[in-house]
Amino acid sequence: MPDKCRDRERIAAISGAGEVPSLPVSAIRGNLCFRCFSPSDDILKCSGCRRAYYCSKKCQKLDWSLMHKNHCKIFQTINEVEEQKYQASRTWAEYRAYLLYIVRVIRNAAPADEDLRYIVQAQAYCASCRRSAIHLSNRKTLLHRCEACRLVFSCADCSPTPEHSPSICDAYQNFARIENFRIAFFEETGKGAPVTCTQFPSPTRKFLKNCAGWYDYFVKISDKPQVKGKFKLDFNSIEDAITRNGTTIEKDEAERMFMFLLCATDNLTMPLTIISALEDISWDKPQLNVHIVGGTEREIVALGNFEEMLHLIPSLRGLHTTVIGPEIPGGFEGKGHYLPRQNVDCCPTCKADGRQRSISLYQGVYHDFMKASEYRKPDLAVLFNSGWVDGEDAKLHWEPTIVALVAAGVPALFTTYNEGEARNEQTRMKELGAKVLVEAEENKWKGLVPTPEFIDEEYGMWYNNAYRYIIQGSN
Ligand SMILES: [Zn+2]
Ligand SMILES: [Zn+2]
Ligand SMILES: [Zn+2]
Ligand SMILES: [Zn+2]
Ligand SMILES: [Zn+2]
Repeated sequence: MPDKCRDRERIAAISGAGEVPSLPVSAIRGNLCFRCFSPSDDILKCSGCRRAYYCSKKCQKLDWSLMHKNHCKIFQTINEVEEQKYQASRTWAEYRAYLLYIVRVIRNAAPADEDLRYIVQAQAYCASCRRSAIHLSNRKTLLHRCEACRLVFSCADCSPTPEHSPSICDAYQNFARIENFRIAFFEETGKGAPVTCTQFPSPTRKFLKNCAGWYDYFVKISDKPQVKGKFKLDFNSIEDAITRNGTTIEKDEAERMFMFLLCATDNLTMPLTIISALEDISWDKPQLNVHIVGGTEREIVALGNFEEMLHLIPSLRGLHTTVIGPEIPGGFEGKGHYLPRQNVDCCPTCKADGRQRSISLYQGVYHDFMKASEYRKPDLAVLFNSGWVDGEDAKLHWEPTIVALVAAGVPALFTTYNEGEARNEQTRMKELGAKVLVEAEENKWKGLVPTPEFIDEEYGMWYNNAYRYIIQGSN
């Protein structure tokens, strides 16, 4: 029984939003129930807004009281706006402009409700004429879904099967499989995503730069030799031999282990991307002071497996991490916006060896933190997926931080969700006169969990820390 998903708001209030799966794209596109995230052959649609789907009347009633009563009216207004903007067919550029317009309307109506915007951005539409599900429903025209990925559509006027390339269909099938795994994982464990790190500290330093990628890391550096021979070297799927000749149990087991480790890369990407940058700048001291700049709750949750840094760098005796950002929850006793150094528990082996890990938090922008009395120049500043050039708050919040980082000569590691962003940041960085230590390149340690992107690029997929580069000071 999918009880935990059904109860997710209450669980999020206790464990934090990061520990609960968000509304799946597969639900928004009509494959899963909005309340319990289960599939149903006979899915019900909210007759008011035609944008929410349910496996049963029971789920619909519960969702109304917990969530949908706040959304249904706004969706109905959005549907009217959609109809006013009706066009018989649109190019991708036109559809994109139209989505941006609608998202602006929603932002004005309900500025704080990100779910609402997301549900509209991710809505189903015909891949050929790009009329939305609402446009087609208003005209009683059927929308067929691709039988393989179930996430791409075509309308009855255009073509019996949606036009999309096999690679896009594959990417969406992969994405839907991951969404389903995360829902099942949450039901089983009450956790949002698998977290795993190497269980014991390594006695000798093994360099990430000697690894080709995640498969090598799990087999040669971490402690998962059972992976060997089960997964493909590019960590794309389980081995063909198992798919072909394995028993059902062997196949299920390999598939489950694969999904677990694949999802775990989404958190492990943070410590590994940092370790890899430390190798690049040949950093080697007993105490490491890292600043996570522009951090959110996501980074605070991920600190749990920063112990991986102690486990892969045997010479490291102490690791201090400060997470700084305006979205960090504040109200710390005494200091208000600053949580002073707190020790974090290490594993028994590290503890017995006297190694230490600590964190502190600062609520605010980094260039303010740099002026605060608590500020100590870090060994490395890290900006995970900051979007400091292309993001919404680029000019206002980010530019002063970047200028201050360059002026202070702090080594800084940057990551982005995609190649275009990395290119734009690198260009701007050069205009600012920053010295680039490592040019923008694909990150070997990017997270392998795709996030579909609905506005920048049709069928685009984003990955955590997909690209990376390192700067220090100015030329
Ligand atoms: Zn349901
Ligand atoms: Zn509704
Ligand atoms: Zn069409
Ligand atoms: Zn497909
Ligand atoms: Zn340890």
